[in-house]
Formats: sequence, structure tokens, C-alpha cells
Amino acid sequence: MDFQYTPEQDAFRAEVRDWLAANLDPALCVDDPKDERVAPDRETFEKRRLWQRAMYAGGWVGVAWPTEYGGRGAGLLEQVIFDEEYTNAHAPVLPGYSGIALCGPTLMHWGSDEQKERFLKRILNGDDVWCQGYSEPGAGSDLAGLQTRAVAEGDDFIINGQKVWTSGAQYADWIFMLVRTDPDAPKHRGISYMLVNMKTPGVTVRPLVLMNGHAHFNEVFFEDVRVPKANLVGPLNQGWKVAMTTLMFERAYAGVGNYDDQIGRLMELSQQVHIAGSPAWEQSWVRQKLVQFRIESQALKYTRLRGLTKLLKGLPPGPEGSMLKLCGSELGIDIAAFASELLAGAAITEQATEIVPDAPRWFNRVLSARQYTIAGGTSEIQKNIMGERVLGLPKG
Ligand SMILES: Cc1cc2nc3c(=O)[nH]c(=O)nc-3n(C[C@H](O)[C@H](O)[C@H](O)COP(=O)(O)OP(=O)(O)OC[C@H]3O[C@@H](n4cnc5c(N)ncnc54)[C@H](O)[C@@H]3O)c2cc1C
Repeated sequence: MDFQYTPEQDAFRAEVRDWLAANLDPALCVDDPKDERVAPDRETFEKRRLWQRAMYAGGWVGVAWPTEYGGRGAGLLEQVIFDEEYTNAHAPVLPGYSGIALCGPTLMHWGSDEQKERFLKRILNGDDVWCQGYSEPGAGSDLAGLQTRAVAEGDDFIINGQKVWTSGAQYADWIFMLVRTDPDAPKHRGISYMLVNMKTPGVTVRPLVLMNGHAHFNEVFFEDVRVPKANLVGPLNQGWKVAMTTLMFERAYAGVGNYDDQIGRLMELSQQVHIAGSPAWEQSWVRQKLVQFRIESQALKYTRLRGLTKLLKGLPPGPEGSMLKLCGSELGIDIAAFASELLAGAAITEQATEIVPDAPRWFNRVLSARQYTIAGGTSEIQKNIMGERVLGLPKG
């Protein structure tokens, strides 16, 4: 593993930084962008869609996507450099992230030429914003238990059923979803992967609210929804394989969180807030906690780089995605718990104070951290994967 960037990569980083400095409106920036990856209201959503268009015009959406699909055609390392700079700038998560990170790469692997032609560029420029229709009321960790049915009729499928926890469905133009097309086959073999326009008659979206008050996800109901057979991705009844491709991209993406900014801010605060009349920093347990967070954050960084090295060598992604997802989301919870301990009332009342002017941010962190241990596969499921694939333990 070589940690040195080439002069070209350093120049690329400078170019990204300069472009963001010149083009990113500070009013679009967010303290913890991942916690607000779905816009809080339609107006913000539309502003972010325009921002995505501006970025696309500048050649900054789909940095590692092939040029034939509208991407920049740069390497994986350039994508990583771009993501680092974008995160450091506190720029908002693009409204099209599900399409860019999940559906688009899946279509590149499994889509027909017609599907690639029809959808990929529109994903990048924000014309089509996508949501992910996997989970159902009775199918989450046991995703293959899904019951939403699609029945063939002439050139179409007719879909009936319900999805739940669908992030961003309230704004989405399209949903990529899993449906049961053969109820008599073993459960993993009767599933298909379909693309459905959210404006199709019979699709109803009802909002659900996270405990931080953010309208992040939704229930989505399908009642006699007619979908052309041309919108089937991959072979009929083999949607499980297609779904796993998307999940592989999702876990890699889910582990991309970076806590350095939060840890740095907590270090500053620990010198300002007091415990028993002196700065909290003077307590050895406070310093130990903060240093431990830094160590874990660095360990995550190098695990991420290890995974990246494999990909750069052309090897398939390994269990690093599950490790990053598990350790990254659990670190987020530990940081939030420590922030509530250190900041006491300031972290739970959403009121800025003189010493903690960013208290509402910490309030939001404390309430938001838990979602990452659930979304994209729970911590227990990641442990099962690592137990089986890394430690070689028998299936639970
Ligand atoms: C913020 C957020 C956004 C989301 N966005 C989307 C989205 O856009 N699209 C989408 O399709 N879904 C989305 N989800 C849903 C998410 O994928 C599911 O919540 C997740 O897969 C868990 O499923 P479940 O909620 O049905 O819990 P369950 O599967 O019912 O699990 C309940 C508990 O049992 C444990 N458990 C279950 N099975 C096992 C096992 N075999 N071994 C050990 N423990 C087990 C789980 O770890 C968990 O603690 C989102 C969730 C969140 C929190």
C-alpha cells in the first residue's frame, strides 16, 4: 500500500478544491451532510437538484463513471479524492445519491443497452432522482421474505404490495425495487428487480418521520401498478443476484463516513466545558475517550484504504464493506453518547449556549447516530456476515 499521491493526483485535488470554492454556495452547506441526505423540504430539494446539475456541467458527478455513460472517466482514487474534498467542504449530499451510488452502477453491470442509454446520463445530471424499494413490513434483515407481487400480463407486469422505510421517496422520480415474480420457487429464486416510475397510477407515498423530526423516509404502496416488461433488470426470477450487486455498492458507500470533524470539535469543546470547576480536558478519562475515537477513526481510514487497494488491483470487494459499516456506525453512536455526557443539557435541549453555540448540531447527532446501525443492513447482520465469511463460523 502506497500512501503517497502522485503530482497529478495532488493537482486534481487542488482543482476540485478550487472549483468547490468558486461554485459552492455556502447557503447549501450542512454541518453533518449525511444526517440530512434527504432534503428537509421540496424547496431545499430543488435547490440541491440545481446544484447537482451545475456539478454535472462542471464534470464532477460520476467522477469514476466511464465517459460513455456520461461520467468523467477518472480512476477510483480520483473519486476518493473528490469525495474527501466534497465532505470537507460540508457540501450537501446530492439528491441523486441513490441513483449515482447504487442504481447506476447496478445498471452498468446488469442493465440492457436500452436501459443504460435511457437512464444513466439522467441519473448523473439529476433529471431522474431514484429511491430504493427493498424493505417491506415483513422483510428487512430477511429481505428474501419480501411479498410484493408482480404478475405478467401482456407486455407489462402488474405490481401489488407495499415497501417501507423508503428514503427520499417523497421526491423520487423512479424507484428500483424487488418484487416476487414466482411465489412457488424457493424464496431467493422467485424475485425480480424492476424499475418503476413513481408517477405511475397506483403508486402512493406516505411520509414517515425519524426521531430527530426529519421526514427522511416513507411507506410506498402499489395498487395494480402497470410496469412495462422492458423495465425488468437482469433475468426474470434472478433479481436476488442483481439486488446483491446493489447491496455491495451500498455497504461500500455506507462505510464512507468520516468522524474527524466531529472528534476535532469535541476536543475543542472539552477545553471549554467544565467538570468540577476545571476544563473537562484535564480529566484523564475525557482525554482517553477522545484519543480512542481518533484511533478508531484512523483504523477505519486504513481499513477503507485496504479495501480500496484491493479494488485498484482488480480484486473483488471483500468483507471490508461490512467491517466499515459495522465499526463506522458503532463509532458514530459512541461519539454521540460521549457528546451527551460531555455537553450534558446542551446536547439534548437543542438550544445554543454561549460555550456550545453548535448545541443543536449535537442534539441532532445524538438522535441521528442510531439510524446508521440499521439502514443498509443492521449491525447484527454485518456481524453474521463477518462471522461466516471472515471467521468461517457455521451459518447462524
Ligand atoms: C434511516 C433509514 C433509512 C432506510 N432507507 C431504506 C431505503 O431507502 N430503502 C429500503 O428498502 N430500506 C431502507 N431502510 C430499511 C433498512 O434496510 C431495514 O430497516 C434494515 O434492513 C432492518 O430491517 P428491519 O427494520 O425490518 O428490522 P428486522 O429485520 O426486523 O430486525 C429487527 C432486529 O432483529 C435483528 N435481527 C434480524 N435478523 C437477525 C439475524 N439473522 N441474526 C441476528 N439478529 C437479527 C436485527 O439486527 C434487528 O436488531 C432504511 C432504514 C433506516 C433506519
